[in-house]
Amino acid sequence: PNKEMLFIPGPTPVIDEIYDALSSETWAHTDPRFVRIFSEAIQKTKDLFQTDGEVFIIAGSGTLAMEMAIVNVVAPGEKLLVVSQGYFGDRFIDLGRAFGMEVEALQAEWGKQIDPEQVRQKLAEGGFKAVTVTHVDTSTGVAADLEALVPVVKEAGALFILDGVCAAAGVEENMCKGYGNGGAKIDIVLTGSQKAIGVPPGLGIVAFNRSALAAREELGQISAYYTDIKNWLPIMNNPGKYYATPPVNMIYALNKGLEIVMAEGLEARYRRHRALGRAVREALGVYGMKALATEEVAAPTLSCILYPQGVDDAAFRKSLADKGVVVAGALASLAGKAFRIGHMGNVTEEMFGKAIRLIGDTLVELGQPDARDFAVRTFHEVYQSQL
Ligand code: PMP
Repeated sequence: PNKEMLFIPGPTPVIDEIYDALSSETWAHTDPRFVRIFSEAIQKTKDLFQTDGEVFIIAGSGTLAMEMAIVNVVAPGEKLLVVSQGYFGDRFIDLGRAFGMEVEALQAEWGKQIDPEQVRQKLAEGGFKAVTVTHVDTSTGVAADLEALVPVVKEAGALFILDGVCAAAGVEENMCKGYGNGGAKIDIVLTGSQKAIGVPPGLGIVAFNRSALAAREELGQISAYYTDIKNWLPIMNNPGKYYATPPVNMIYALNKGLEIVMAEGLEARYRRHRALGRAVREALGVYGMKALATEEVAAPTLSCILYPQGVDDAAFRKSLADKGVVVAGALASLAGKAFRIGHMGNVTEEMFGKAIRLIGDTLVELGQPDARDFAVRTFHEVYQSQL
């Protein structure tokens, strides 16, 4: 049967090779055959983020990974700066406060990037232990300017924590890479399994560099147990050890998912996502649908698209879903005015060519002008020219 084109901001379409891995026989979590697979998955995760430290892969969602990232480096009473470009950036405010951190936030207008100068000024007040930045905010489709932000944060002596949930394996997140002139580096990257990696939801993944691991050491006892990386370090170094039962089948799936990512090649995969994002936005532009983010700040993985006059959100998404293409509504004040379309993971030019036509069919049904041929042609031309 034809699978749904699941183009929400994640989960993304799961390909058969990954389903096959997921449905393999559940071995003991201490079985050497499983331990080998877990070790491979850990190594591939290190390769994905190029960390000189350690990665942690635990059962849970992206939010648990967000929690793991901050509780291990910021103590209650210490200052956390949240740089937010939307709904998921804001989540760190509540999260930090729940753990008694002294949270301050800089919030960009939705659809815009934060001004790095504003971040510099805020950090100049002093005392910030860490800064969170959301690589791609899933509410707006805006990508963060790492080139500008990483040096600003590192110059202030704070740890740089990157939420890569809607970016990892679709947009470069290289912890070895030096940003700016001083070679400033990302200290922590976190993600989930269900977006550009292309695996079902269920894993929280966090990478710490050496500075971040040292920051954990300095804290001593922390108010966490399941998310305390010190409890997981021995397991990540030797996955045959027990701390809490790993989600065996999800680890099979992650290992397969990362094998597929690495077989494509990181550079090629990042380029494909950039081309796809651009082509989707230009093609939808032909239908009079405008992205919330301008092309300079738009994310390769996901777009928030404003409806043209006279298109009803619920009717549009229902009719499109009936044709096999599932997109998501917009959040907060954009609800009803825009929809969100994910273009990430193990998806193809062919799938999106079809989706652009089906979106056109839906718009015609809803009384909009017929621009299907031009939109589909635009999609393929832009995609091919950007690859
Ligand atoms: N951060 C970002 C950027 C996200 O897109 C999401 C999920 N949409 C999360 C965090 C939270 O992840 P989860 O829903 O898996 O807990």
